[in-house]
Amino acid sequence: MIHRRAFVLSAAATTLLPAWAQAKTSRLVLSGAQEQGGLVVVRAGQGARATVDGEKVLVSPDGIFTFGFAYDRTSDATVRVDFADGTAETRAISPIVRQYEVQKINGLPQKFVTPAPEELQRIKDEHARLAIARKVDTPETWFAEPFDWPIPGILSGIYGSQRILNGVPRAPHLGVDIAAPEGTPIHAPAGARVAIAQPWFLEGNFTMLDHGHGVFTEYLHQSEFRVKEGDVVSRGQVIGLVGQTGRATGPHTHWGMNWFALKLDPSLYTVTPKPPKA
Ligand SMILES: [Zn+2]
Repeated sequence: MIHRRAFVLSAAATTLLPAWAQAKTSRLVLSGAQEQGGLVVVRAGQGARATVDGEKVLVSPDGIFTFGFAYDRTSDATVRVDFADGTAETRAISPIVRQYEVQKINGLPQKFVTPAPEELQRIKDEHARLAIARKVDTPETWFAEPFDWPIPGILSGIYGSQRILNGVPRAPHLGVDIAAPEGTPIHAPAGARVAIAQPWFLEGNFTMLDHGHGVFTEYLHQSEFRVKEGDVVSRGQVIGLVGQTGRATGPHTHWGMNWFALKLDPSLYTVTPKPPKA
């Protein structure tokens, strides 16, 4: 009994090390958000190699790599880095657990809530293309610095909300909605290559930007495109205009962010001021 208690105490003492003492022992510099829906950016120094949860990730020549936490993930991410000098470090990174809201949306045209069979096939084809595009791992590190908000406006929907569309519970809302007048310019939040720019059924005029290493941002419901697939855009460049094409009840931009297939919260990775809430 006494031994057992002593063991518990010593385990607790280790995890309660102050942050500075833990940081001192790590050679990894972390930025981004260590929470559910967060993108984490790691700087490990020149020539490093890395795995996240046992999977090899792309590391830039100067030692930058990234990964994300799913919206409902509660387990630690295990990051292992092999440094150029032959040493290695393994670090467990815990996501902060979030509380999400419930959002009710009524008045959506029924065809978007329960699409007809031919529309379902179109949605399936478009999402199949999206899934393939999100597997692309490009070497640029446009993602390495936090993003600018793409438009001024009002936050009308936040990440993680449990959605009830016309009274029917649906998947959580894994993006951010920014309401703004039709025609408001949408700016690239960072440098990127345009991976997709297509008129789609649910998304409306849809653009996906590739910021490198599996980090993508997405812009839905645009009234007009200002870029085409394959274009390279710089931070701040206008990529399209706000609209209400596809499944939308008013002019807004649904702003999504992904790390490969994982849908993340772009509002956790911004440097400019957050728009006010509705
Ligand atoms: Zn949305």
